[in-house]
Amino acid sequence: MNPKQELLSRLPSVDEVLKSEQGAEWLKKYPRRYVLGGVRQGIDLRRKEILEGTTDEVSLESMAQGIALVIGRLSSLSLRPVINATGIVVHTNLGRSVLSERVLENVRRIATGYSNLEYDLGSGKRGKRYAHIKRLLREITGAEDGFAVNNNAAAVLLCLGTLARAREVVVSRGELVEIGGSFRVPDVMAQSGALMKEVGTTNKTHLHDYENALSGLTALLLKVHQSNYRITGFTEDVPVERLVALGRGRGIPVMYDLGSGCLMDLRPYGIHLEPSVREVVKSGADLITFSGDKLLGGPQAGLIVGKREFIEKIQKNPLARAVRIDKLTLAALEATLMEYADEDGAKERIPTLKMLFEDPESIRTRAKKIALLLKRGLTDAEVALIPDSSKAGGGSLPEVDFPTYALSIRPEKISVNLLEERLRSGDPPIVARIRGDALLIDARTVSDREIGPLVKGLRSALR
Ligand SMILES: *Cc1c(COP(=O)(O)O)cnc(C)c1O
Repeated sequence: MNPKQELLSRLPSVDEVLKSEQGAEWLKKYPRRYVLGGVRQGIDLRRKEILEGTTDEVSLESMAQGIALVIGRLSSLSLRPVINATGIVVHTNLGRSVLSERVLENVRRIATGYSNLEYDLGSGKRGKRYAHIKRLLREITGAEDGFAVNNNAAAVLLCLGTLARAREVVVSRGELVEIGGSFRVPDVMAQSGALMKEVGTTNKTHLHDYENALSGLTALLLKVHQSNYRITGFTEDVPVERLVALGRGRGIPVMYDLGSGCLMDLRPYGIHLEPSVREVVKSGADLITFSGDKLLGGPQAGLIVGKREFIEKIQKNPLARAVRIDKLTLAALEATLMEYADEDGAKERIPTLKMLFEDPESIRTRAKKIALLLKRGLTDAEVALIPDSSKAGGGSLPEVDFPTYALSIRPEKISVNLLEERLRSGDPPIVARIRGDALLIDARTVSDREIGPLVKGLRSALR
């Protein structure tokens, strides 16, 4: 027998490993199929290494660490927490808005038992799930009525499909937006069965453009928030008030897809281009749709507020059932909306708002703390605390720069790309931005309880 053959014959079999003390320990902790998978992979790998001549170790002990790693990976959940060090608050790829413990407590309360989801406790008869948020939506936005569905894409689809099926919807060419993840106004329009009547040009649309497009077929005037882009320079668009005036004269309703849907007045923060939902309601728009998990800071949802006659009609559309909001989301949404009963409290207690409007000095304090912990005895990188700016994200407030503080980390032993990659594959994964030859850790989106794991992850990735 040649030496390699001899080594292979001494490798333990899968069965032997499972029957060993170590195997029994794994079986106690993990599902059998994943232990089996890990052991098979471990032995296969070792066989390959022996044939390649890179090792002559055949003991289970020498393979145990690798096997444990595979078992751990196979039995871990795919969807898991990550540390967002990008400073982008409403980060669509990282789950958009973060919920507070208080909101989550309400979800737990509703999810772990029965509830009056569709039961009217007053009459003992069947109730409506939408009833639970109606009063809050009316109070906060000033609208006559309101309810919520799965997301804003569904809200737009449902509104168009109910009010404009096989009829025309007039919309400006400057507002035919695409949001990430394949939400495109023309495509949603086509899906809804409404006929899109484009008016104006990319940069300029006048009131008379809308006016000239009206006919017996017109069902709706639609305005769409540009969300993630801006047209600047020689531009003109028609404010919603003027569309409302035009629509009123002809008996045609006006709908506004507001995208982010901010429930607060942002002017005290120097942000003048983002109207609050309340202002848009006041402008007279008949229907307004917006997301639950963008600037609102709640769970994924699509909110629809406006005139009662339209809201009731939309709720009766059979499609509403297909895109209805689930009870966990509803519990999170109601609790989030309740925070807006006290606007100052909302800014403190809704994580999205708290992160967006945190005082830069307070961000600086956190960044300094991270830097201090990271630098302790560190010789593998140059770390500097720098002023920088963060973005809201999620297609919200694209023109606003939020002053922040970040750590700029220049690794000395490895490339910045390798550092970024190591952080991403760590546990917990850390997502950060690269600028030039430095990695940026924006402290805005790092919470206090994440500082420990962040520093640990950075130190181990820099080695
Ligand atoms: C984000 C956005 C949508 C889609 O909202 P979701 O809640 O992500 O479905 C639709 N319209 C506009 C203008 C948006 O900004």
